[in-house]
Amino acid sequence: MTEPTPASVAVVGASGGPYDHPADAAARSAGERKIALDAIAAEVRGCRRCPLSSGRTQAVPGEGDPDTEVVFVGEGPGFNEDRQGRPFVGRAGELLVRLLATLGWRREEVFITNVVKCRPPDNRDPEPSEIAACAPYLQRQLEVLDPALVVTLGRHSMARFMPGARIGAAHGTMAPVDASTGVTDALVYALYHPAAALRSTEVERQSFADVAGIPAALLEARRRRDLARAPRSAETPATSDAPEPSDPTLF
Ligand code: SF4
Repeated sequence: MTEPTPASVAVVGASGGPYDHPADAAARSAGERKIALDAIAAEVRGCRRCPLSSGRTQAVPGEGDPDTEVVFVGEGPGFNEDRQGRPFVGRAGELLVRLLATLGWRREEVFITNVVKCRPPDNRDPEPSEIAACAPYLQRQLEVLDPALVVTLGRHSMARFMPGARIGAAHGTMAPVDASTGVTDALVYALYHPAAALRSTEVERQSFADVAGIPAALLEARRRRDLARAPRSAETPATSDAPEPSDPTLF
């Protein structure tokens, strides 16, 4: 497949950005989504569900445009994020901004959050029990945002949306998202964590190559979503070609 060029990125969203939420009556407005996301963020800031709450300076609920179609999910806050209460604001965040810039996107145009909302001590990996305790917040955020495309950053995030996949093989690939994650009729696209790219020039080079595939993944996600959500007329046969979530032929 020909890699997307900056010119092809312009077709992603009428505004040139990652936006194409339907304006149908069932969809929440951007204002309604912001109110719902703010309510979840307030709960996160006061949460004591797992031991990570005792070591945090601030919880980091996530931030971004409530009207976006693309949600980036990292692993957990680091030192700078814990201090500022914002996701991806350190060196890894700077690299994420550079990766987005290659698409002509700004971080304010997507939503960025993490699997766990509080910093693990010494930046260790989050424990499975901590990930499980925090999972309802991410699920609710995704239910509100209703993204067409989830971009995972690193293996802990990928494990939630691509169970059983290995980051070395799955980076730069997409797959249907299981509705149990909170996302329906959507695709997931895997990237290395930017912090890994800071430690390895090869992973950094690969990350820039992988991010170039995001616009094509978003277009494919929209195509599948449109098929899955299209109203079925009385004439539509039961054997519609709307894809099954597990349709393996595309991946
Ligand atoms: S990591 Fe998640 S579950 Fe644990 S205290 Fe923070 S917000 Fe609550």
